[in-house]
Amino acid sequence: MITPILKSYIYSYTNIEPSKRIQNPTQADNTVLDLNKLPSYKYQISFGCSEEEKIKKYIKNRKRSLNRQHISYKNINMYNINRLEGIQEGIDVFKGLSMRQIKYLAQHSTEFVLQRGCHNMCAHCYASAMPPSYQKAPDKINKIDFEDFEKLYYGFQELNKRLGFSIFKNSKNEYNTLFHDADSSTIFLQDKNGKVYDYLDLAKMVNELTEKEIVFDTAGWNIQDKKTQERMEKLVEKALNSNEYDFVAFNLSANPFHALNHRALQHLKNGNYAQYKKIRDIYTTRMANVLFTFTPLIEKERVRLIVRALPNETKNANGYREDDLFMLYSEIFNKLFKLYKQDYESGAHKVIKDKDQIEKNIDYLNEELKNIEQALGINGRMADLVTDKKIFAYKNTKARTYKDPQKAVKGFKDGIIDVNGKLYITNWYENYPTDIQLNYKNKDKKTADISPYLNEKMITSDMLDTL
Ligand code: SF4
Repeated sequence: MITPILKSYIYSYTNIEPSKRIQNPTQADNTVLDLNKLPSYKYQISFGCSEEEKIKKYIKNRKRSLNRQHISYKNINMYNINRLEGIQEGIDVFKGLSMRQIKYLAQHSTEFVLQRGCHNMCAHCYASAMPPSYQKAPDKINKIDFEDFEKLYYGFQELNKRLGFSIFKNSKNEYNTLFHDADSSTIFLQDKNGKVYDYLDLAKMVNELTEKEIVFDTAGWNIQDKKTQERMEKLVEKALNSNEYDFVAFNLSANPFHALNHRALQHLKNGNYAQYKKIRDIYTTRMANVLFTFTPLIEKERVRLIVRALPNETKNANGYREDDLFMLYSEIFNKLFKLYKQDYESGAHKVIKDKDQIEKNIDYLNEELKNIEQALGINGRMADLVTDKKIFAYKNTKARTYKDPQKAVKGFKDGIIDVNGKLYITNWYENYPTDIQLNYKNKDKKTADISPYLNEKMITSDMLDTL
């Protein structure tokens, strides 16, 4: 504000007759500095409109111009980001961030991370997730504070309102998750009054901001874990009885790479068949229970199976290949079939109300097995497992592509907003930290490293100028 006021004053001063000009420079300075005494400042006639009004005027004019071109949709890329600078003013979660930084964060907000760490320890986990207990330290967090999640939610809600459209529209990522290296069955938050927000409540809040599909992924839970079992049963019922959550995609993951199956296979390799059978049975029972729990959503065709295995021709990967995956699923489906039969024949009808449904569900799940994902990121724990040179070479090619952060800043389409508000960008093979961080109350807290491969170099905000 200071610059235009002074210019305006200088302009009028030079237009006053020399004899009437104030000779004492101190007197002149005081007059200028007491801005409220100047009618032109008070009523903002000669100094133009406030920054807020300027931004509003710019948005209005831009919308009019787009409408004239018959463009009805709007997104942040259609606006000059410099002209929007200041629109975020007063929104606490954006304190210290420019609009250019906020735009970059919004466009790379694939993962709104609410929790870190996972007990499943799958060998194929691209995020090399470790159990949350592994991450405990006084200055470390592995869960977002509900207050920070609210800050993010209300902050972006207000920004979207001021813009007149969602800043997340047209961002490069097509879906959102509420995790990076956690299992969705374990995610829920509690506010300071003890109110619990389940995955659907939290997903709804993110969906309101981004208008995107929200992914729910689970690799299952321990059959003895009554709390998670109850939480999942309630979640399924809630999703089933309301179309409010139709934007949630439910993915269930049963894979040869799960830690339990991996452990069973190690016993098999060492010739300990009894231990193999025992642990394999724990795993297949666990996954049959997961499918049984999600049956009401399977019947609505809202469940997808994440089926991942290595190609049959992969060398030195016994137990992890396509054919091994079919064998694993046949064991799980057999157990599921028994559970269905029991449920129906006992008259309990917890999930199976109609006998025909048993076959239909198994057929539906069998269909899902047609989409085996073989293009797996061979990194982290998987790199120890797969020694086939052909696959290893593929991994190295990917990692080499983005050694230069200047390339990554443009090339990486996805990102991770960690539980302390820090943004990382990713291509799922490697990550870069950025100097962009939301103003969370826990912004000074440390978190576990973001995997896979976290580059030492950082994406700094000056690199965004080139975008
Ligand atoms: S369940 Fe998901 S996050 Fe957890 S270890 Fe497995 S792949 Fe990783």
